[in-house]
Amino acid sequence: MLDVIIIGAGPAGNLAALNIAKAGFSVEVYDWRTKIGDKLCTGIIGHSCFKEFPPAEHEIYRSSSSADIVSPSGKTYLINHRNPQAYVINRVSYVESFADKAVKAGAVYRLNQKVTSIDVSDQEVSVISESKGRNHSATCKAVIIATGFGSPLLKMAGLGNGEHKNFLTGCQTTVSTEGLSRPKVFLGSNIGRGSFGWLVPTQNNQALVGLATSRKLNGHMDNLTKLLKTQGYYKEIESPERKWGIPVKPSTPTYNQRALSVGDAAGLTKPTTGGGIYYSLLSGQLAAKTLIKALNQGDLSSKQLKPYESEWKRLLNSEIKLGNVARGIFESLRDSQIEFLISKLMTDDVRKDVLEANGVSFDWHGRIINSAFMHSVFGKYLSLVTPELEQKPSDINSTGSIEVA
Ligand SMILES: Cc1cc2nc3c(=O)[nH]c(=O)nc-3n(C[C@H](O)[C@H](O)[C@H](O)COP(=O)(O)OP(=O)(O)OC[C@H]3O[C@@H](n4cnc5c(N)ncnc54)[C@H](O)[C@@H]3O)c2cc1C
Repeated sequence: MLDVIIIGAGPAGNLAALNIAKAGFSVEVYDWRTKIGDKLCTGIIGHSCFKEFPPAEHEIYRSSSSADIVSPSGKTYLINHRNPQAYVINRVSYVESFADKAVKAGAVYRLNQKVTSIDVSDQEVSVISESKGRNHSATCKAVIIATGFGSPLLKMAGLGNGEHKNFLTGCQTTVSTEGLSRPKVFLGSNIGRGSFGWLVPTQNNQALVGLATSRKLNGHMDNLTKLLKTQGYYKEIESPERKWGIPVKPSTPTYNQRALSVGDAAGLTKPTTGGGIYYSLLSGQLAAKTLIKALNQGDLSSKQLKPYESEWKRLLNSEIKLGNVARGIFESLRDSQIEFLISKLMTDDVRKDVLEANGVSFDWHGRIINSAFMHSVFGKYLSLVTPELEQKPSDINSTGSIEVA
């Protein structure tokens, strides 16, 4: 019997596989894709992710210390940092690089294999997969569900009902551009109320155009591409649109007897942008740590695996809650309110205090959200547009739970 089967060769599954294999346990990774890492994504990571899980030089398209925010009326505001805050990477080779290391450490990859069922018993986990019409079955001591957004396998492993109630739909295409030097973020109801769009230069005069929305797409992607085309931001669309879900709230429990969920499957992303590569890596790392301890002790009970959830909560819960407060506010704003807030946020003093201050991080948006609310001037403007706000960031304590007065 194998020690561990991991379903999903994304960043979360691959890093967990690497660490489990390095600890000397047998591990197999299943993915229905033939190309590891080739999942819809823009490939932006922040500086903390870059430092903790560094991409190789050839995996980096560009670093970015600045970005443009384009308001609903089309006014462009520049955010500028002294040092790079974000990196646009070749996501496929970055994610593959973790798998390559895992293979070197002894992990076995079974690609083009779709896992169709999991059965967890007191003694083992049995996993059935399918490839080219043929079924394959295997047993293991524990399973990690690293399947990304929305998988029925979660429910089979006793990890919630397998549905993400709160999610964004992300839609993206590749375009040809010229002379685009930094990412641009577009806001406003012409893109979709509560949505945001992006134009991110990658390499060879190409860029990614996309949007994320918690509502139905309703032609908003067409609006965005048309708008950007008429404004001369790109020349041609080079690939068909693709869309995929992004969970913005954790799907708990993320542990059960012989089973853990990680990354998007566990709903661990930044609710502000929907970025999930960093949290996937962090949760893959934490899941491996808990599982290695449990395997060494020969105890894979739910009680023994619970520390995984306690650890990711300690690390991420307050960030995710703050991010969702900010998202809730953003989604409620009318164009005129967004226009007003951006114009105030981008005044020299506020911008330097809130967006360009030392310690501001693209990976930890909670700091930006907190300093926006606490800012002596901007905080008042925020209260003006959000008077009926039920949860303020200050209500969220460091463990991410809401303090009820
Ligand atoms: C449009 C868009 C843009 C994004 N841009 C960014 C960004 O710039 N930065 C960022 O940090 N995040 C971004 N994200 C989010 C990011 O892509 C995810 O958070 C991240 O990939 C999650 O990693 P994961 O390992 O949890 O899962 P995934 O990367 O989704 O990997 C899951 C794997 O599981 C496999 N799988 C699923 N079910 C099965 C099954 N039954 N059997 C076998 N294999 C299975 C899939 O094939 C897949 O390879 C974006 C998302 C979208 C939709």
